[in-house]
Amino acid sequence: MNNVVIIGSGCAGLTAAIYTGRANLKPMVIDGHEPGGQLAITTMVENFPGFPDGILGPNLIDNMRKQAQRFGAEFKSGAITDVDLSKRPFKITAGNETHETRALIVASGATARLLGLESERKLIGYGVSTCATCDGYFCRGKDIAVVGGGDSAMEEANFLSRFASKVYLVHRRNEFRASKIMIDRTRANEKIQFLTPVVVEEISDVSKGGVENMTLRNAETNQASTLPVSGIFIAIGHVPNTKVFRGKLDMDENGYLITRYGSQTKIPGVFAAGDVQDHHYRQAVTAAGSGCMAAIDAEKFLEMRSAV
Ligand SMILES: Cc1cc2nc3c(=O)[nH]c(=O)nc-3n(C[C@H](O)[C@H](O)[C@H](O)COP(=O)(O)OP(=O)(O)OC[C@H]3O[C@@H](n4cnc5c(N)ncnc54)[C@H](O)[C@@H]3O)c2cc1C
Repeated sequence: MNNVVIIGSGCAGLTAAIYTGRANLKPMVIDGHEPGGQLAITTMVENFPGFPDGILGPNLIDNMRKQAQRFGAEFKSGAITDVDLSKRPFKITAGNETHETRALIVASGATARLLGLESERKLIGYGVSTCATCDGYFCRGKDIAVVGGGDSAMEEANFLSRFASKVYLVHRRNEFRASKIMIDRTRANEKIQFLTPVVVEEISDVSKGGVENMTLRNAETNQASTLPVSGIFIAIGHVPNTKVFRGKLDMDENGYLITRYGSQTKIPGVFAAGDVQDHHYRQAVTAAGSGCMAAIDAEKFLEMRSAV
């Protein structure tokens, strides 16, 4: 029997593990398919407080993991495939293993949608990004592209125009999902140029370990072209990792978990933290902050029931 199981080992899950570990709750952390979460696949992180020269994402996450282990957190590999939250203790299944727990913290994050190109995957953190807030500062004086046609693509293009010398807004259709006000604002921005209807076919140059250009194909004329850019922001949405909680926890229309009074879900004893319940801020420090909240909430929950 576990006091606390934490689903996910990104910054939310690891911060929850540090706090519940230091509260002597001996948390069990389930890594999932992406141990360390999104920071494990990026390079330099310059906005996490405490690192004046920045820190590599994998190093930051590795430090958090060691810190959690130091306070007794146990890590298990494997992804959660089912949960029974109908009564306590909750049952958490990862493949053939089932774990029982008095409290549960869900920190399974949200995965950015990608275009599906091999080159895109290889260049994430090396010029390809899914987060303008995180990586905009690296684009000072450069020509870059934002891919997408919704409000977030427009928002990111406008934000990035503060740093970049030129922003190409690349979209596969002539019509946009974005609201009219956002489209108008973006069109009025002199630094932003719309490129439609074009499909991204390739991002180069993987062999040089950085973005130099992208190959585009016009969806109407079928003509291919090369666009020299040094950065590409993919802004086509995120998918919260909440499939196993469908019908069991409250979610919004996009599948993000709904929390109340801090980190509480609708089921007493089940808490949620990080990007899995936050489609707005999506930052390492906010995920870590909400991991701390979930840990304190779980600890109070267990204490009130004298479970530990
Ligand atoms: C390329 C990139 C660069 C970024 N750069 C920055 C930056 O510079 N600064 C910044 O503040 N933020 C940055 N971010 C955003 C930041 O990484 C996220 O906000 C943060 O990682 C969210 O933490 P999280 O713990 O909520 O989720 P995640 O980091 O997404 O972690 C989710 C965890 O849940 C696990 N999981 C998922 N499903 C299951 C399952 N079924 N069973 C078990 N485990 C599961 C995963 O394996 C993973 O360990 C960046 C993101 C990306 C993608």
